[in-house]
Amino acid sequence: MPIRLLPPDVASRIAAGEVIERPASVVKELIENSLDAGATEVAIEVRGAGVEYIRVVDNGCGIPADEVELAFQRFATSKVASITDLESISTLGFRGEALPSIAAVSSVTVVTRARGEDFGTRVDVAEGAVVRKERQGAPQGTAVTVRHLFRDFPARRKFLRSPATETSRIQAVACRYALAYPEVRFQLTVDGSTAFASTGSADLREVVAAVYDPETARAMLEITPDVAESSGPRVWGLVSPPRLDRANRGHVTFFVNRRYVQNRSLGFALEQAYQGFLMERRYPIAVVSIGIPPEEIDVNVHPSKAEVRFRREGLVFSTLQQAVRRTLTAHSPVPEVSRVQPSTGRPAQQQGKASLWPTVDFDTHAPEHGPATGAAMAGHHGESPVKAEDTGTRPTDAPLPSKVLPVLRVVGQVQNTYIVAEAPDGMYLIDQHAAHERVVFEKVRADAVARTANAQSLLEPVTVELDTRLHELLEAQREAIARTGFDVEHFGGRTYLLRAVPSLLAGQDPRQAFLDVLDSLADGGGYESWEERAAYSIACHGAIRAGKSLTYQEMTELTRLLEQCQQPHTCPHGRPTMVHLSAGHLEREFGRR
Ligand code: ADP
Ligand code: MG
Repeated sequence: MPIRLLPPDVASRIAAGEVIERPASVVKELIENSLDAGATEVAIEVRGAGVEYIRVVDNGCGIPADEVELAFQRFATSKVASITDLESISTLGFRGEALPSIAAVSSVTVVTRARGEDFGTRVDVAEGAVVRKERQGAPQGTAVTVRHLFRDFPARRKFLRSPATETSRIQAVACRYALAYPEVRFQLTVDGSTAFASTGSADLREVVAAVYDPETARAMLEITPDVAESSGPRVWGLVSPPRLDRANRGHVTFFVNRRYVQNRSLGFALEQAYQGFLMERRYPIAVVSIGIPPEEIDVNVHPSKAEVRFRREGLVFSTLQQAVRRTLTAHSPVPEVSRVQPSTGRPAQQQGKASLWPTVDFDTHAPEHGPATGAAMAGHHGESPVKAEDTGTRPTDAPLPSKVLPVLRVVGQVQNTYIVAEAPDGMYLIDQHAAHERVVFEKVRADAVARTANAQSLLEPVTVELDTRLHELLEAQREAIARTGFDVEHFGGRTYLLRAVPSLLAGQDPRQAFLDVLDSLADGGGYESWEERAAYSIACHGAIRAGKSLTYQEMTELTRLLEQCQQPHTCPHGRPTMVHLSAGHLEREFGRR
């Protein structure tokens, strides 16, 4: 499409008064233009944190000689012609505002040669106006040079951060586009030396290696495609395995139709998918792309086009969540006991006791103080009743293909806490509390959904006095709470009679359990269902404790139940339920191999 001025009705719909805030905004707009031009190579060079000099060179389609000046007029674009086009934007740019906005605050030179033209064209633009235009020999593609950014705009300059910060923002922009377009070769040169380069091999993992490091790239899991062919959104990319986590959300990158976007819901969906796989307050590394028909999104909601709105947000959300969940479940292994420390650098991987992991430290953790595995790592002691702040977000693992455990033969119990079991591939140590928590969690959740919860009547009803918040919650959620197996009767005021509890909680303090379940429901959490929150709380109460001696039958029963779980390898908090000592490892340890 030739570059044309947008008709006023279209222009008024999309005008964002796009403002160039900082050097990185220039780099972003120029890269977007190169990608829209179909470039397979994009070279970015900056000097003086981009304020002095920015140059972006591409091998894209180029700009026809007679259109170059037009490109510098506001609302001149080759990407949108009518209002209907706005409803399905498939290019990164669409407003025709970037080049004029950049030219208004800097000196710009464009050298370009369009496909099929014999000569290139050079145009110099100063203070927004074309000051020179001439023919010039040039390779096909476009080179845009931006000098003296904000020279005449001291106010704008004042808002710039240190050169190092501005440079790193530029680098972040380049890295993001390289991740979004692995088939395009990017090169970023900062003050004469290469700061970042991708190969353009189309292999996302290679770009991740360039942005992060090769080890991280190797460890990342490729999102398992949905086997069912569907017309809904498509999700692809790489996500970190559970043990490769980070302390903040800064390593999560989303692209929608290859546009980098920031979207809280997508972030939520991703974190929900990791529930039960990551410790609390740990976050994944992820490079996730969502492909969706352009008419399903609105990209024109943000001045720098960094946000999108989905017509059917719930669908996108659940598709993303399920895809990541599927990937994690398919890859979640039983942690193997080995002498090799995982390389996540997480400090909590126990000091002293150098070898085994997760380390079982019998000296410092008496069983009555909690299971002696890595529980301390998460700040989670399985023994403690659910605390309010712990109940916010819980797994939302909708039915998923279950991960098969080998058939386990129980051998015995150690420390009244771990079940020792044998399988064809070696030995397993099972944390009885964590394992039972997983079993109870899945059972309660399934019962609540199927409305088949078993209740156990109390010999004597128990009086429970609720605070206003829980009182209101109970009134609003009577039915949901009844579905978990609690039978409560209003006695008057904020007093209730508890007549029955879920049978899984028989033997526990009924009042405390009831209050905890209400608390966890009151918390609201993220997107998980109330069934999950209730199940989580009941599991915490109902699961057998560490330190309890179990009979052989009880242990066998527990391992059978665990084998039937959908996610047998972790408790609902994300701690491992078992560690594996492989046959090969035993052989090596005893020098048999
Ligand atoms: P938009 O990208 O929203 O169309 P811009 O102001 O960024 O607006 O660019 C205006 C027009 O200039 C584009 O529509 C495109 O036709 C042309 N153009 C800009 N940069 C390039 C480039 N690197 N290669 C080819 N054409 C370009
Ligand atoms: Mg543009």
